[in-house]
Amino acid sequence: MKKMFAFMIATLLLVTGCNSQTSKVDDGKLHIVATYSIIADMVENITKDKAVVNSMVPIGSDPHSYEPLPSDSQNISDADLIFYNGFNLETGKGWFQNLLDTTNKNDVAFAVTENVEPIHLAEKGKETEIDPHAWLNVKNGIKYVELIADKIIAADPDNKAFYETNRDAYIKELKDLDTYIQDKVDAIPVEQRILVTSEGAFKYFSKAYGFDAQYIWEINTDNQGTPDQMKRVLDIINTKDVKALFLETSINPSTMETISTETGVPIHSKIFTDSLAAKGNDGDTYITMMQWNINHIAEGLTK
Ligand SMILES: [Zn+2]
Repeated sequence: MKKMFAFMIATLLLVTGCNSQTSKVDDGKLHIVATYSIIADMVENITKDKAVVNSMVPIGSDPHSYEPLPSDSQNISDADLIFYNGFNLETGKGWFQNLLDTTNKNDVAFAVTENVEPIHLAEKGKETEIDPHAWLNVKNGIKYVELIADKIIAADPDNKAFYETNRDAYIKELKDLDTYIQDKVDAIPVEQRILVTSEGAFKYFSKAYGFDAQYIWEINTDNQGTPDQMKRVLDIINTKDVKALFLETSINPSTMETISTETGVPIHSKIFTDSLAAKGNDGDTYITMMQWNINHIAEGLTK
């Protein structure tokens, strides 16, 4: 038995030893971790096959709070670069900062919002807290991509030209996307541009493209769907001419379903905020998720 135990320990050490060497040296690729799917997609657009990209928070889950798995810890330990949103996104119970601290990887972790102008929460007492959902304005998405590309090039300067070409082509697509969204918004009658979602994730989007963004709760780290929050949003919907409600894919549908039942305003469609769609489905990239959103918002609010 003792022998068996010693053998197990030796095996464990061997396995751990191997894993700790998984880096550029092994496979010639950068090892990059992104906290959630939207950032991972941006990274992959720049690195293509020159990196192994791991996205931590699963598709359809909420990055505000997450319980990392042992494999996340291992991926973070092995990472050459780590990208996270920042702006108070990955802060629920300190899950992400704890992970960086325990793996001692703070020096290779970068917030993609570094060059983005923050918008603060509106709720009384929370005015000093930053709203994290900056990526829903494509002009901010472009800033994310520029920062990601800079850090990748600094980590792997031999492939600078390759990354720059990919970055420039991707940014061109994002500029076209930005124009596409604005054109779709401009076609919605101004008084019908009221966007109601569960979480108040559309501040940056609304400011950029011109919407009145309403919500049940302001941010996912709040209590979700308290009587006061319900009353507030019901009053708004009953006062304004709201054509449709929208339900985020990374949020429990029951609260918005109650709002729909009580007001008679239909839930028009799902909408993507904090997660892409699963691979192979419409909305599985940053570009197609933003297209899905504006196509369905325009359709629902133009009726
Ligand atoms: Zn959110």
